[in-house]
Order: sequence, then C-alpha cells, then structure tokens
Amino acid sequence: MQNHVAVNIYPERFAQNIRFLKQAVSPAKLCVVMKSDAYGHGLAELAPVAAAAGADAIGICSNDEARTLRQLLPNIPLIRLRSALKQEYDESASLLNLEEQVGSLEVAEYLHQLGLRRQRPIPVHIKIDTGMGRSGFFVEQQEAIKQVCQLAGLKVVGLMTHFASADDQDLAQTEAQLAKFSLLKHQLSQYLPADVLCHSHNSAASIRLKGQRADLVRIGAACYGAQTSQCFEQPAELQTVMDMHTSVMEVRDVPAGTSIGYGSKFTTRCNSRIASIPVGFGEGYPRALFNKGQVLINGQRCPVIGRVSLNITTIDITQLKQPVAWGDDVVLLGQQGDESISLEELAGEFDSVHTEINLMAGLMNQRSYL
Ligand SMILES: *Cc1c(COP(=O)(O)O)cnc(C)c1O
Repeated sequence: MQNHVAVNIYPERFAQNIRFLKQAVSPAKLCVVMKSDAYGHGLAELAPVAAAAGADAIGICSNDEARTLRQLLPNIPLIRLRSALKQEYDESASLLNLEEQVGSLEVAEYLHQLGLRRQRPIPVHIKIDTGMGRSGFFVEQQEAIKQVCQLAGLKVVGLMTHFASADDQDLAQTEAQLAKFSLLKHQLSQYLPADVLCHSHNSAASIRLKGQRADLVRIGAACYGAQTSQCFEQPAELQTVMDMHTSVMEVRDVPAGTSIGYGSKFTTRCNSRIASIPVGFGEGYPRALFNKGQVLINGQRCPVIGRVSLNITTIDITQLKQPVAWGDDVVLLGQQGDESISLEELAGEFDSVHTEINLMAGLMNQRSYL
C-alpha cells in the first residue's frame, strides 16, 4: 500500500465531462479515447463509467487494452487509433473484435485475408493523411482507396483523418486539412458505404470547430478535463479528473548560503525554511520541474528548489505566514484553498503536455477512486 502519495481519480467528474461533451457534439457520436491506461487514469476502472455516461465507442491502441475492455464491455465498438503489427492483427481478428485503422494497401490486404479466414469481414476505418504525416493514404491515392473498398474480407465502417495542430492559435492548417478531407469524402461518396462514419476531430477541434464535426468525434484529453490549449476558451463544465497530494516529510531551518540537493543547483540567499516531500520523479513528479515547479502548502504557492530527486523534492516555505508541520497536506496537482496547480501549468514549465503529467502521476503510483 502506497501511502506517501495520493493520486486521486474522480470517476463522477469523468462521467460529467463525457455527458457534457456528448451533448455538445451531438448529433455526432462520441468515441472516448482511453489509450495509455486512460491517459493514466485507469482503463479498467473508467471504461464502465465512460460506457454508462454515453460513450458510443472507445478508442485504444494496444491489444492489452482491448483485452481488458472486452472482458468488461463485450459489445462496445473499440477503435484502434493506430496501425498495428502483424501479430497484433492476428490476435485481434480472432479474439478481440476491434475496428482497425487501414492506411495502406499492404495492411488492407493482410486484414482482408484475416477476414476471409475468419469468415467475417474485419471492420476498418480508412485512414487519410491530410497533413499529420504519420500514416494513411494521401488524398491523391484514390485508386488505392477504392481498391480497399472492394476487398471482401473488409467492411469499411469509417473514413478518418487526424489533425496535426488543432490546438494552435492559428487554425489555418486544421482548416486546410478539413477541406482536403471533405473534398475526398465527396469524391469517394459513391464508393463508400452509405452509413460510413467520417471522423476527424480530437478534443481541441471538437471544442473549437463547431458545426463541422461530421459523424463521430474522438475525444481524449477533454474527457479527463485537460485544457488542450491556452489559445481558446475551454468550456467551464470540464473538470480535471485527477489530483495528486502528499504530505510534508521534514521541515528544516537552514542558514543563508546553504546549497540544496544534487548538483548544488540552488543556494539559499537568506536564512530559509525548507520542507521536503516524499515525492520525486520516481513518483512521476517531473525532474524537469527543478527550480521551476510550485506546490501548495497552507493554501499558498511554494517554489520547488534544487533538483527533484528520485523520491524527494525540496520546497522553500520561508515566505509562508502560517507554521508548517510534519504531515501537513501538500498539493502537487489540484486545489487547496483558493489556489490550484493545473496540469497545464506543470506541463508548461518544461514544454511538455498535460497528458504526460497525467501519465507519470497515474502510472507510477497507486490510484484511489473517490
Ligand atoms: C489520441 C488520439 C485522439 C485523441 O486526442 P485528444 O487530443 O486527447 O482528444 C484522437 N484521434 C486519434 C487518432 C488519436 O490517436
């Protein structure tokens, strides 16, 4: 039992976020993206919550994730949000009932054969590269796309693309991607099944590009309450689903000129009071936050000083008005009194992204569901 750090997950907030998003994107269907152990929040714990809150499908990446979900939710559509390895397809086709992404003729052929062998076509989403540059057919490859539509071992259920920078201030690239995708949809309309689901929008696009969401949206970050960008206003309804606390482990008074921690990267300028906490990068508190991060103690912001160690971080509490005692609550992520530390604040300190903060905290610690 890990009791020196608390990573708390609030399933009801997750459910509320999903209900809000589902209504906001309606009539588009909602695919709740739960790859990477639900962005560090716990796939097995939150998937039933997502389904009950109205998820029409769940987005995942690995077969492990699919196996976990198939035990809990035998019937919900599962969309794999990347291409995969042969051995992954071999297993998924026979056991997992996944909708696969197809972005090349080579993969289409392989899945076609698997579909024929199992005597039931594999449901696939045709992936179009409109500018993300990682995978998929280019819009110019229409002959290849038409061939995919004719393979008897496949059932084309979706046509999809992914945006590279929907969270940028400037939406020009996203709009250009969307225009390419719309044109292609139009050009292929007679080859695609009438009920094919067209989809392109992640969290940022779903929130910003209202009215162009097509048939389905794939939302990850916003379901967990992350603000995908500072460049546009986030719906106030979205609440963060994770917070992280620990307690003061030690309080020390040190004279001016004391250097603190590995590499002596910080030296006190005055007589100082230093608190240490039993959390470091071994608990998912990023090492990059040295001399940058802040935590909340007594409802006030206090700076991280010196290197973040594997399991210890040092905090300057000299400025605090109230005395601080061994065992006092420390908030690393979340709210205390009137102050709060957000995922985005921490990520912004070292050019990271909210998801990485969630992942490190959620995957490196035991989580509690409140
Ligand atoms: C991860 C992923 C998403 C979700 O992105 P968010 O920004 O977290 O909403 C959507 N689509 C694809 C293809 C993805 O890989």
